[in-house]
Amino acid sequence: MNRRVVTFHYTLRDPSGRVLDSSAGGSPVTYLEGAGQIIDGLDEQLRDVAAGAKTRVEVPAAKAYGERDPAQIQRIPRAMLPVDGEVQVGAQFQTGPDRGDPVVTVVGVEGEEIVLDGNHPLAGVPLTFDVEIVGAREANAEELSHGHAHGGGGGGCGEGCGCH
Ligand code: ZN
Repeated sequence: MNRRVVTFHYTLRDPSGRVLDSSAGGSPVTYLEGAGQIIDGLDEQLRDVAAGAKTRVEVPAAKAYGERDPAQIQRIPRAMLPVDGEVQVGAQFQTGPDRGDPVVTVVGVEGEEIVLDGNHPLAGVPLTFDVEIVGAREANAEELSHGHAHGGGGGGCGEGCGCH
């Protein structure tokens, strides 16, 4: 089966029904099937969904942001945190300068020690996506060789493609 480039709108909810993210009112998301551009479980379950269709996709945690890993919880001396003043439980810090660097969450403050959780905030959380496929077409040869979609019309590599 040929791989498609799919454009969709989505609303993402956690098991309590809280909206975590949504493309409503913004641009839809475009991705190349099987290229790891969206989470695996969503990619797999949208393979047979045609353009124009609306569907609800339930993605187990293991196929979304993974199960929680207890080894990702660690204690560090408070002085190692790059903040002045009070450290609050729930505060999040990026571990590096890039947008894709992992985020750690403060889950405890115990005297001069901080307990950090390096699990993704959505690790262990099953996700529900309400999806509307707004477009789907066959991927072109350039997209297949680059391993990502080139926008709605397939008009070439855009900024942020990461393939240059
Ligand atoms: Zn490209």
